[in-house]
Amino acid sequence: MDNCIFCKIANGEIKTDFVYENDKVVVFKDINPLAPIHLLVVPKKHYADLNEIDDKNILAELLNAVKEVCKKEGIKSYRTVINTGSESGQEVFHIHVHILSGKKLGSLC
Ligand code: 5GP
Ligand code: ZN
Repeated sequence: MDNCIFCKIANGEIKTDFVYENDKVVVFKDINPLAPIHLLVVPKKHYADLNEIDDKNILAELLNAVKEVCKKEGIKSYRTVINTGSESGQEVFHIHVHILSGKKLGSLC
């Protein structure tokens, strides 16, 4: 999708170090971390948000990538967050799963 920052990161147009990558998903560090560990799990295919995903395999790929990257990085306790819609706090309209870890996390909102 034109002018989508996460499409540009996922397709290599914007050079980014990936913590994890497979054929469907990339994982990279959040530019503005809210915890000592803050990763973003992003599908290579553009979907604006969770409501737009019409392929159950992508949902499985996203959560499986969460598990795989946490295993690879030795992250044992973590929170996952998916914001959907601007009222939830979503700012980048290419779906992504936040992984937050590395400190005792507070309440959800
Ligand atoms: P949202 O609020 O949409 O759920 O989360 C978007 C996240 O993307 C924010 O935590 C923000 O810091 C992160 N972010 C926005 N632009 C960039 C970028 O260009 N690079 C990286 N690594 N993270 C970004
Ligand atoms: Zn995109």
